[in-house]
Amino acid sequence: MNNPDKIIKVKLEIPIENSNNLLKSNNNNIDNNDDNNDNNLIQDSNINQMKNLKSLNFILQNLKISNELPNKNFIRKPKLLFRPPSCTVLNLKNLKFNLPLDDQIEIEDLYFLHFALTYCKKAVIITGAGISVNSGIPDFRSSNGLFQGFSSKSNGSGKNLFDYNLFRNPDSIGKFEKMIEKLFKLSQISKPSPFHKMIDNLSNQGRLLRLYTQNIDCLDIDLPNLKTEIPLTFNKNSIPKTIQLHGNVKLLNCSKCNYITELNQNYFDNRKFGESRLIRTCPSCEEMNSVRQIAGKRIQNNGILRPRIVLYNEFHPDGEIIGSITEKDLKSKPDCLIISGTTLKIPGVKRLVKEMAKVVHSNKGYVIWINIDEPSQNIIDYVDYFDLIVVGDCQMIPGLVKLFDHVYSEKLSTKSTPKQKTQDKKLKISKIKNSIVNIDSKIQKVKKKQVKPKISIKKESIPI
Ligand SMILES: [Zn+2]
Repeated sequence: MNNPDKIIKVKLEIPIENSNNLLKSNNNNIDNNDDNNDNNLIQDSNINQMKNLKSLNFILQNLKISNELPNKNFIRKPKLLFRPPSCTVLNLKNLKFNLPLDDQIEIEDLYFLHFALTYCKKAVIITGAGISVNSGIPDFRSSNGLFQGFSSKSNGSGKNLFDYNLFRNPDSIGKFEKMIEKLFKLSQISKPSPFHKMIDNLSNQGRLLRLYTQNIDCLDIDLPNLKTEIPLTFNKNSIPKTIQLHGNVKLLNCSKCNYITELNQNYFDNRKFGESRLIRTCPSCEEMNSVRQIAGKRIQNNGILRPRIVLYNEFHPDGEIIGSITEKDLKSKPDCLIISGTTLKIPGVKRLVKEMAKVVHSNKGYVIWINIDEPSQNIIDYVDYFDLIVVGDCQMIPGLVKLFDHVYSEKLSTKSTPKQKTQDKKLKISKIKNSIVNIDSKIQKVKKKQVKPKISIKKESIPI
């Protein structure tokens, strides 16, 4: 890890004149820092990722590049010069920002990613737990994921704690509450990641059609341009930017009377043994029943108040409205689909990705997967349309796009892309062909001219 004091010192020393020089000088500084580090630590891929992200931020700061995505709303969208062959993998896992990027990756693939994020007008983004890991919230399925901490013989992989059937078993309810408590506390203290902010930025620039999030941590909906509505209503003129596909860990609700209340720390503190404050009789139903009792009406069953998250094997309380919103979005000609931080294990989300990818593809848009791992072959076969598969930490994407915009985009526009190279070749060939034709016709003309005088001489010779 870099010493922060040293970074500041280095930062002041670097002349901010030429970006290429800066990249080189940054390279040296970081390498020097590395000498002081424990080499074993550098082997660790997570530390490498963090180091790389730091190095990227360092470069961006020195180049005085703003935190916002490049905003090209005011210029005419240029022609896309290069589209990678279907399912092209852009592997960023071993990328070192202190070295020239075009030596390490196919820069045309990065051009495509930059183009998609810079010029899309109606992006649909579908996210999963992977985008919140940087904020300190563990994902569910990875080796360090949330499910691992709760796995046991009775819970299996820990996934069963998110199954609707957990309510049948008091032991499972206790563990479920602990899991919710952990997630709730983390969501209270965590801050949005650079990737969350990039989505918010896209929305602020008016280029986000919708964010469909599987995350219940609320790091997205707490941002100013990614607000949602709970419960959802369907008003086609004002659909919220974010749709929470799996609910929200900060709320409790009753499925019977739809009463919604905010979860707070009191629900977890001073809890008596065996008591559940999180899953209990709905106070609103109870109140209604007491009113009915006074009025002499028949008492009804009370509903259950519980976290407003969607478990396996149950329906989403806003499911129908989400269906109407996706239908409308599919008809709205989205031009970019980004799938990030998810392995698409949930069938409904997988289906949504497939339908959206098909529409985006038919609109000649951009379908991009961004995740720490490649999609499984099943997902590739099922979804059918991936233009680009970006493998690596999604948190480096916003910075990488900005760096490309600043350092490489001009370079690339003067340098031919492969597609352009082919076009150039074709142009050259047609020019050569044309010139051959011209030469041919000139020769013909010359020949005719040469013939004509002879004829004219003959003609003139007759009278003589
Ligand atoms: Zn109720």
